[in-house]
Amino acid sequence: MKHLFKLSISSLLVLIAAMVVVGNTASAYSLDRLSGNNRYETSAAISKKGWKDGAKTVILVNGKDVAEAAVAAPLSKKLNAPVLLTNPNSLSAATRKEINSLNPKTIILIGGKKNISDKVIDKKIKAKVKRIGGKDRYETAALVAKEIPSKQAVVASGEYLFDVLGVAPYAAKNNMPVLLTKPNSLPAVTKKALKGKSSTVVIGRTKAVSDKVKKQLPKPKRISGSDRYDTSAQIAKLMGNKKKSYVVTGKNKIDATSAAALAAKNGGNLLYVEKTYVSTSVKVVIDTNKLTQFTVIGGTNIIDNKVGSELKQPIEHLLVNKKVAVGKDYKAAKLVEPKVKFAFSYNDPKRLMDSRAVPNFEALMKAAWKDNVKLYAQSGYRSYDRQAELYNYYKRTYGEKYASRISAKPGTSEHQTGLAMDVTSPSVGYDLVEKFAKTKEGKWVAKNAHKYGFIIRYPKGKENETGYAYEPWHLRYVGKDAAKEIYSKNITFEKYVK
Ligand SMILES: [Zn+2]
Repeated sequence: MKHLFKLSISSLLVLIAAMVVVGNTASAYSLDRLSGNNRYETSAAISKKGWKDGAKTVILVNGKDVAEAAVAAPLSKKLNAPVLLTNPNSLSAATRKEINSLNPKTIILIGGKKNISDKVIDKKIKAKVKRIGGKDRYETAALVAKEIPSKQAVVASGEYLFDVLGVAPYAAKNNMPVLLTKPNSLPAVTKKALKGKSSTVVIGRTKAVSDKVKKQLPKPKRISGSDRYDTSAQIAKLMGNKKKSYVVTGKNKIDATSAAALAAKNGGNLLYVEKTYVSTSVKVVIDTNKLTQFTVIGGTNIIDNKVGSELKQPIEHLLVNKKVAVGKDYKAAKLVEPKVKFAFSYNDPKRLMDSRAVPNFEALMKAAWKDNVKLYAQSGYRSYDRQAELYNYYKRTYGEKYASRISAKPGTSEHQTGLAMDVTSPSVGYDLVEKFAKTKEGKWVAKNAHKYGFIIRYPKGKENETGYAYEPWHLRYVGKDAAKEIYSKNITFEKYVK
């Protein structure tokens, strides 16, 4: 086993899947992975992928502390130079090998001598060596910025390096340097570097860059998310491109440093994920920007293969609950009315569903009626505003505590995604009530919904996991594979996703 393991991860480039047809729209989905046995090999693999024919310049940075080099990507883009990691005190073997293969004329060390030692360059290195480094990350960022003349700059927090790395491809795309600030005070070196700039893009929440600092910046525009994952999604939204997305762990900044340079070179996005799942805000941007090409950075010990299926089917796997909001702006790509029997006759947006769920829901309903099960659709899509009305009605009527058990705060309802449909039957007076579970229709749904890619989203006795009381009528589309697994293992969607 050990031998097998070694063999499988020692290949630097592992192509794990390519060109899978998604749904009936035949959009090309591609997924590959760049990884090595350690951070230096991964960094070399990234370089190999982006700079097959060598590079005139190589940027060499500390592979143990990327605080000074996190701003390197715009310079990397400008000089068409890969960013290689090395042990800060001696040149790492994989790095040396890659430098030899790139055959650069110039090597630029980014960081002060305390950050990356002169010792990384020895006699065997023939290239000219240049250092861009100050006494700390703020000064180093300012010195790197000097190399990228621009009227604009990105300003990010020196204490939130995930944001710095996350925004680097955006800065590179727009030929803007990234300058660093402390959360509550603008360092003098940064202030000086901002002289002559006409506008700035500020990254991160006020915790990272306070309003006090923001006020001192020229024409600041803030981009932020609720966490690093969301921030990377917001940046991708801003990039607006459908080029490749580079998927990096949100747990460790190291791999992102070389990946940001590759993303910058190719104009791609940098998206942060958890080890085993993709957060809702990232799934939303994948869906709305129709991102279909992904390169996962790092081995399966860092990002599990499971993430691949979530990238491919972001909507099926979209987790929305009390803790995870889909947000005010989320709209399903295409809402369609399924051709099924409804429990009401009037026209209403609640007849609609996400088009990807529709054929499956129609098949489910057809199968039910074939079994002489009188199933009616009651409530599908609900806009953010409609959910707000509904929630406030329950709150007024029953008080906040009870309202939150039976209804979702706006932005946290699955109905907003168009992936959920409440079903009912004449046997319960077309109501949405727990006793539906005891009816012929309720029993049929519980036994068969998974065959069509639907789950009973809020099962009995799982309120502590889902946050909701038992709802035998609320069906959620998750795709057939996920539904079968959730059904057979008798787990909640929360458990399945994470
Ligand atoms: Zn519902």
